Amino acid sequence: MKIIMLGAPGAGKGTQAKQIAGKYSIPHISTGDIFRANIKNGTELGKKAKEYMDQGLLVPDELTCDLVVDRIGQDDCKNGFVLDGFPRTIPQAEALTDALNKLGESMDFAIDVDVPDENIVKRMSGRRACLDCGATYHIVSIPPKKEGICDVCGSELVLRDDDKPETVQKRLDVYHEQTQPLIDYYKKQGILKSVDGTQAMEDVFANIVEILG
Ligand code: ADP
Ligand code: ADP
Ligand code: ZN
Repeated sequence: MKIIMLGAPGAGKGTQAKQIAGKYSIPHISTGDIFRANIKNGTELGKKAKEYMDQGLLVPDELTCDLVVDRIGQDDCKNGFVLDGFPRTIPQAEALTDALNKLGESMDFAIDVDVPDENIVKRMSGRRACLDCGATYHIVSIPPKKEGICDVCGSELVLRDDDKPETVQKRLDVYHEQTQPLIDYYKKQGILKSVDGTQAMEDVFANIVEILG
């Protein structure tokens, strides 16, 4: 099963993608996590990506597309994968479509997790992330068992630099301008499904499982 998660920053794509990956035993591929791991390890890609991420801008397609095309060509992706945060632009979506077409394949589902802008800022300011294992929490709605500590790996949780309110507004603008057009793109491909992302995490997941079957 090959799945794309669509939705604004903070809509809950990552939260749902992790659960999908667990239930269907497919890898969770988050471009944001890949960039953050590169930043943490001080790689050349990380240095370049950080310049854009800190400003709430998208990392250029040239730095993003090949990375994902390589990743989905790896052995563990044979039975499918869930893409979280990619594609984010029409050229990225076209690169993905082309890469799969060459293999005689195509995506099965694009799931739009729909959350209005008003709710997003609240979600982002309460998001706490583990930069070691990629787990995310919310101080009110999805708190870790021990405050400030990752349930999964025990590392310290942080408020991401790009989750501060100034940057969040910029990311929302970028989302509407560059990423939202993908909803139509996948509608035309006939694989778009929408879920109401304002529901509780478990209810959103139940809706998704219904769609995926
Ligand atoms: P969120 O989960 O809040 O939407 P992500 O972790 O997916 O955030 O992404 C964080 C940042 O990484 C983005 O704001 C952007 O700068 C960069 N990024 C992630 N994925 C992509 C992508 N597919 N194309 C360009 N930039 C990306
Ligand atoms: P995205 O990957 O789309 O940027 P996340 O999955 O990281 O979004 O979720 C953003 C924030 O909202 C996190 O703090 C997360 O714990 C929280 N969150 C996710 N889903 C829900 C939900 N259904 N209700 C309330 N908060 C949620
Ligand atoms: Zn962790």
